[in-house]
Amino acid sequence: MQLTNIGVIKDLFERHGFSFTKSLGQNFLINPSVCPKIAEMGGCKSGVCALEIGTGVGVLTQELAKRCDKVVAVEIDTGLKPILEETLAEYDNVEVVFADVMETDLKALITEKFGDSEVVVCANLPYYITSPVIMRVLEERLPVKALTVMVQKEAADRICAKPGTRDCGALSCGVSYYSEPKLLFKVNRGSFMPSPNVDSAVIRLDITDDNGLDVKDEKLFFRIVKAAFTQRRKQMINPISAELGIPKAELAELFGGAGIKQTARAEELTLKNFAALCEAIGGSR
Ligand code: SAM
Repeated sequence: MQLTNIGVIKDLFERHGFSFTKSLGQNFLINPSVCPKIAEMGGCKSGVCALEIGTGVGVLTQELAKRCDKVVAVEIDTGLKPILEETLAEYDNVEVVFADVMETDLKALITEKFGDSEVVVCANLPYYITSPVIMRVLEERLPVKALTVMVQKEAADRICAKPGTRDCGALSCGVSYYSEPKLLFKVNRGSFMPSPNVDSAVIRLDITDDNGLDVKDEKLFFRIVKAAFTQRRKQMINPISAELGIPKAELAELFGGAGIKQTARAEELTLKNFAALCEAIGGSR
């Protein structure tokens, strides 16, 4: 069944009484070259299992199932159930779990369904939960090798921006702390049905076991990073002082100890700089 064919999709919708829910980010892929590319570049192959978030009509699910040993997909919309029963009928290595991914214990799910197998995450993410899903996978240190996801183009640029450059933000720092992000390819808005107002891009985050940083207090590290970027173009000493309740004069000394200018802005700092600052602040308490 050619799930990128608009006629096929419309027929499925009609027969099963399905209509799009905009608030769930339901923009389904209809460009036939995109899903095979996501699966290939996402590392789907024999010996690997894939976790998908958001099946839609199963267009990407099929490509994952063709290449991987096993696919488990989490989909919130039970209205898609009869459609998926039809579109995925020929794949006996796919299981769809109908649940909200944000309410799902993903670590338990991966362990239960995939055991010790190598796991990759592949998804065309609903835009409204892009950052929370990515950060959950990373922060919970899910046992996955890589995360290959389609996101809005602007989000892709932010996520892949290197710390210490003008485009970076707290999200880029978080992503770079846990992984090596790479923008794989762009996808124009005409590749979706319905067509969204913005273009998209596919990114891959290769999870790193060792980021080369020696951060003893990760909670403090991310509090500092988040506070620093609240006023990204201004001196970061002020929001950090407010967040941590450390007087500015005292904080200025700690900045100096970490080799950071008192006037520094968050976008000028590398992760190593943030780690040094965290060490200096943590050591002073
Ligand atoms: N993979 C399909 C494709 O590429 O055509 C669908 C992608 S569509 C952008 C996002 C999908 O995620 C939809 O099927 C939507 O119902 C589902 N979704 C939205 N919010 C979700 C959530 N909180 N948990 C699980 N799935 C969700």
